[in-house]
This record gives sequence, structure tokens and C-alpha cells, in this order.
Amino acid sequence: MIIIIYEREVPEKLVALQRLARRLPSDHPHFDHVKLALYNAQSGLGGEQYIDSTLFDMYFPIPHTIFPNYRLYEKYIPSTQIDILIITPAYALVIEVKNWGGTITFQNTGQAIQEKNGVVRSMDCPIVQAEYYRENLQDWFQLHDIILPVHRVVIFPFASTLLRGAENRGVHFSKELPIIIRKLNKLPLQMDTKDFDLLSLKLHGANNTFANEKVCHKYGILPSMLTKGFFCTHCDIQLLKKNSRHYICPSCSAVPANPVLEIMLDWFTLFSNQVTNKNIRTLSGLVDSHRIQYFMKKSGFPSSGRNKGTVYHVNETEKEKYLGDI
Ligand SMILES: [Zn+2]
Repeated sequence: MIIIIYEREVPEKLVALQRLARRLPSDHPHFDHVKLALYNAQSGLGGEQYIDSTLFDMYFPIPHTIFPNYRLYEKYIPSTQIDILIITPAYALVIEVKNWGGTITFQNTGQAIQEKNGVVRSMDCPIVQAEYYRENLQDWFQLHDIILPVHRVVIFPFASTLLRGAENRGVHFSKELPIIIRKLNKLPLQMDTKDFDLLSLKLHGANNTFANEKVCHKYGILPSMLTKGFFCTHCDIQLLKKNSRHYICPSCSAVPANPVLEIMLDWFTLFSNQVTNKNIRTLSGLVDSHRIQYFMKKSGFPSSGRNKGTVYHVNETEKEKYLGDI
């Protein structure tokens, strides 16, 4: 039995929003928006992790591969971001997870209305979104001469959400997911195990988890608009100067061995995959460029150029190493 479950990583967007939220002054015009985006990203991840655990406990009588947070980027196919993609030799299933609370009313106009705590908000309809991704994946299969039916479902993790107008439209709660999958598992097989393995590998190769727009570019936030200084990774509060070389967290008493490393990670997630000494001065408020240079070198990130022109880079493997857990 072939079972491949790729691990869900903390999305870069969530890491970036968390780092942005602690540096953005509360009087900045985007402050509330960033806080809300952070809350939504955290609750979205919580919902997806809950569904992951439901799937992990399920029995599949046929080979299957589960891709959490699947991003299909390929020429001729519109950008497709699937919360959970399951593939088997009999079918593919696109799962759109929506961890929205309150009352959700599905309109027929590509819009969903959320009413929660007396606030009414209009959101993009997840049914339309899931159907769009389903069609894109079906097109991708066609492009690669793969015959496999693609199904889609919108899942709300918790039954505490009240759904209206969702009947018979492929919208379900997580408790129904095992029943849906059990039915799909009875569909006729479209390929043998060897072809299924090849398809899994092909999809894995086309999965592009990065290619994100940097969050500060999206909101038009400049480095100079952010609070300068060093922050504790655990407590999200500003560190105090302990002595000429070290900083200490007033809450957990942590003293980072390399305080500049965190600033570099802030820069990599908020602005660019490249950082200079000057960038670090702007974000840290530290003026001693020699000390910054010493710590930047110590970070171990690859660099190019010399002296004042030295640029440090991050690649996706390092990003995962440093930012995978928050
Ligand atoms: Zn702390």
C-alpha cells in the first residue's frame, strides 16, 4: 500500500504577518487590517491542521497521496492554491477548508456573507473557488495526458458554524469527510500503481510552495514605517540592551546569541530575499555597521559582494529551517 502524506508547513504568509504585526505601530493605517489578516491566517491553519488529522486517521483501501497546501504553478494554467489535495489511482479530490465562524450565507452570485458578533462581512464564495481550482487541475491533467476525474468539496472544520444556502452544493463539515472519501474510494481505478507513483512525483514536482509576494510590498509598507529594535521570538516584545553586545527579553530573559539573525529573518520575510548592512541598520536602529557585519557573517547565510556592498541571501531550504516552526 502506498501512502504518502506530505507534511504541512507553516505558510510563509503567516510567519510574515506575525513578524509584521509586532513591528507595525498601532497608529499605522494598515494596523487593523494586518491584525485581522494574521488572525485569519492563524485560524485557517488551525482548521487545515484539524482536517489533516481527520485524514491521517482514515483508512484508505487504495494507494493515495495527500498534499497539504498544494500550489500548482505552470505555464498555461492559472495559479491554483489548494488547501488539501488528495490523489488516488481512481480520483483526485480538491479540498477547500474554511475555518469561518458565525453564520455563513451562500449566495448564488459568487459571494458568501458572514455574520459574526454583529459584524456582517462579504467574502469570496469558497464553492466558486473550489470549483475553479478543480477545473484548473483537470486542465493540468489533460495537458499531461492523464485521465483522472477531479472532485471538489468545501469543508468547514467545526459544526459550530451555521451554514445557510449550502445544501447540495458540495459544502460539508469535517465529520462528513470520511463518508465522502469512502464513497470516492469505490470509483473504478484509472491507472496501475506504477503510473500512480509517476503521477504523484509529477504533481510533487509541479508544487511550488513559494513564489509569494512579500507582505510589505502588498500593503505598501516601507522599512522606515516600522518600529526599530530587536524583538523576542517567543514573546513578540522588544528586547532591552543588556550590555554592548547582548540584548535580553524583559519577559522570558532570553538572550539571543546573534540578535541580528532575527532582524535578517524579518527582512527576508517582509521585504526581500536579499539583505544589506544598511537594511539591518534601518530595521534594528543599531548604528555600528562593524558590529552588524560581524553578526551578519556569523548568521551563516550565503553572501556575495565585499565590504559595504556585501549582500546576504536566503534560499528556500534555509527559510524552512529558520521559519518552519513558530
Ligand atoms: Zn521573551
